[in-house]
Amino acid sequence: MKKIPLLDLKAQLDTIREDIYAAVHRVLESGHYIIGPEVKAFEEEVAAYIGVKHAIGVANGTDALQLALHAAGIGPGDEVITTPFTFFATAETVSQLGAVPVFVDVDPKTCNIDVDQIRSKINERTKAIIPVHIFGQPANMDEIMAIAKEHGLFVLEDAAQAMGSEFKGVRIGGLGHAATFSFFPTKNLGGYGDGGMVVTNDDELARKIRILRVHGSNPKYYHSMIGYNSRLDELQAAMLRIKLRHLDAWNDARREKAALYDELLKDVPVVTPHHAENRKHIYHLYIIQAEERDELMEHLKQHGIASGVYYPVPLHLQEVYKELGYKEGDLPVAEYLSKRTFALPLYPELPEEDIRFIVQTIRDFYAGKQ
Ligand SMILES: *Cc1c(COP(=O)(O)O)cnc(C)c1O
Repeated sequence: MKKIPLLDLKAQLDTIREDIYAAVHRVLESGHYIIGPEVKAFEEEVAAYIGVKHAIGVANGTDALQLALHAAGIGPGDEVITTPFTFFATAETVSQLGAVPVFVDVDPKTCNIDVDQIRSKINERTKAIIPVHIFGQPANMDEIMAIAKEHGLFVLEDAAQAMGSEFKGVRIGGLGHAATFSFFPTKNLGGYGDGGMVVTNDDELARKIRILRVHGSNPKYYHSMIGYNSRLDELQAAMLRIKLRHLDAWNDARREKAALYDELLKDVPVVTPHHAENRKHIYHLYIIQAEERDELMEHLKQHGIASGVYYPVPLHLQEVYKELGYKEGDLPVAEYLSKRTFALPLYPELPEEDIRFIVQTIRDFYAGKQ
């Protein structure tokens, strides 16, 4: 039986293998492995790509969030508003700094934070908002920045899933006060290991993050802050530089494949992803909703098709956050989505015939239920 994976990283390597091997060779022979010329060049290339002044490479997307929040002064006693429908790291980093994540329910169509519910959660302890451009679809940044301005809040975009997405024709990453990216292998721009980046137009914030990533030191061995060991290494940067050149074409391929799914799934009883107006969604994941999700996923599995649940438990109901006092029913949209959403295979090299086979398999499932 033919197997269709959720994501095929080897298929992508096949298209760039020679360049990647040459980059690895170049770095190994250079004798420079941590924060050297490749990281510097990659930072400049990402800053130019996003259209911001500063890009700072760090060890992973989680550290990118934590260093940005730390540099912005978030700490004990502070509250940070975010979405419960995201990967755990978004809230985890807030907690790591001793601050409290405050969860606001999401919009049922975009799965992004519901901007109409943010204001009611703001109080004198609120210091920041972290919108997440979930699955590659930008959050409503106009509204979020307007609210932040009214209340003097710091806005950190968690853009781990959205490199190359656009909001009103502008690449996301420069709309908030800072934004973070992850280069985990499965992300749209993924390395061959861990990596992350913070981007910002704020000189002071960038300066602090550069110090924080090297144990709070500047110059070396002179420590002005308690920092981290959180650096992007030369090998990852060199390989990511090659992949960055392909990112737009890969994102376009994702969008074409997503459009084909949309078209083929039109008369099938599943909900296809909503594409909000004035936004370029780059489909980090192609997420559909189905009433009989688990049964449908099992049916796909039996036909060799992988799928995955993003995310099975919204963050306000995670065991570790019991102490925050949320209960089932508090954030009904996120809870509803967590029971219905799942990802179908999608990656730039996914053959069109595979998409047709996947949709036919879904059709067969519903035909069998009648
Ligand atoms: C992947 C991801 C992160 C964490 O990035 P890592 O590089 O794995 O640390 C944070 N937020 C979101 C929304 C993510 O998808």
